[in-house]
Amino acid sequence: MEPQKYIAILGAGESGVGAAVLAKAKGFNVFVSDLGNITDAYKAELNAHQIEWEENQHSEEKILQATEIIKSPGIPDKALLVKKAVEKGIPIISEIEFAGRYTQAFMIGITGSNGKTTTTLLTFDLLKRAGFNVGLAGNVGKSFARQVATENFDYYVLELSSFQLDGMYSFKADIAVIMNITPDHLDRYEYKFENYVASKFRIIRNMTKNQKLIFCQDDEVVVARLKELNPDIELLPFTLSQKIKNGAYVDGEQMVIKLHNNEFTMDIKDLALQGKHNTYNSMVAAVAANVLSIRKETIRDCLTNFQGVEHRLEPVISVHKIEFINDSKATNVNSTWYALESMKKPVIWIVGGVDKGNDYTLLMPLVKEKVKAIVCLGVDNSKLRTVFEGKVKTLVEARSMEEAVRASYLLGTSGDVVLLSPACASFDLFQNYEDRGRQFKQAVRNL
Ligand code: ADP
Repeated sequence: MEPQKYIAILGAGESGVGAAVLAKAKGFNVFVSDLGNITDAYKAELNAHQIEWEENQHSEEKILQATEIIKSPGIPDKALLVKKAVEKGIPIISEIEFAGRYTQAFMIGITGSNGKTTTTLLTFDLLKRAGFNVGLAGNVGKSFARQVATENFDYYVLELSSFQLDGMYSFKADIAVIMNITPDHLDRYEYKFENYVASKFRIIRNMTKNQKLIFCQDDEVVVARLKELNPDIELLPFTLSQKIKNGAYVDGEQMVIKLHNNEFTMDIKDLALQGKHNTYNSMVAAVAANVLSIRKETIRDCLTNFQGVEHRLEPVISVHKIEFINDSKATNVNSTWYALESMKKPVIWIVGGVDKGNDYTLLMPLVKEKVKAIVCLGVDNSKLRTVFEGKVKTLVEARSMEEAVRASYLLGTSGDVVLLSPACASFDLFQNYEDRGRQFKQAVRNL
């Protein structure tokens, strides 16, 4: 117990409140401050633990007296208060770093630009079905800190964003995963891609040779950075483009995992999650499971029956043999590329929203091959129009989800697929990508 220490927590969302509960349990003085509203449920929880809090303000003087600050990943480093804390030399950490101090559990940390949530859930599902005492945390579900305070897991599968990794210093993963690195969130990294890459690679800090990094061998950015760093850890690559000695690859119709002298194979067509990107995701989960010596039958069963994740290439329903797929979570060009790549029928593509500097030309070959009509769904569709007008038979605009779904339905014929894969953030017309996905599903069901 370190009662003389005083922790200020910025942001009272799931991670902040979880961190507060853990800090209080460990005997710290705790103060939680949020510049916006705090939900009633979180207020009640903070009160129940006798944790002091404030909302709609940051009491600077009080916060700057803290011996340590736990910052929500949503608050950028350029926020004035954060700058002042840095100037005063107050350590600023993430909730993951803080909670990591209080558990000896085996850590599987998963980062990357795309595929984190899917792979984290798939890996968690595998461990759980194999009978491991395992928690799921990070960007998904209950916060890591809350679970460290209230549960006693032996393993954790953690989804880690670059923002969380930025506040991590002594955290050590036992298995780290880097799915891929493509430009995203550059506004938080001084528009320098190398800063974002460095942030992702923080996941291997503190790892030593008994620990393992599972990474995408087909990703040039990841491979180049690894070459530079040359870390003294076990490297387990996954790839779709070559056969390798240790790691995961594809041989004809089979996914192959080779670990030392152990080999696991499975038909790609049996994987519950289809599409190239999902083969990567399944490979990662299978490599992790093999590292943990999970039975082959369990791995096969789990990868065959996994239920998928909401808003990620989620099948909704078919209406008059037109299939509707919700990929609202595709908020950048790279994830939409994989979505289009995995389509096997003519596509009516709903795209648009808040563009974070997208280069749509990367999608052009797939659009020309697979897309018969585009429905632009955004407040400002001018960039989409400029890029795609004339490249597909039909291009229309919609201002609401209902309108977009109705237009897509009218443009479709039996055997087509309507794909919502916006390649953009959702904040112009929706609260968030979940809201966008739910509105899509509702509008489809209303047809
Ligand atoms: P994240 O948590 O990293 O945002 P998700 O698992 O939520 O990733 O998937 C986001 C979107 O990215 C999905 O809509 C899907 O189409 C696409 N995607 C999933 N896995 C991959 C992958 N391995 N590589 C590229 N894109 C992917």
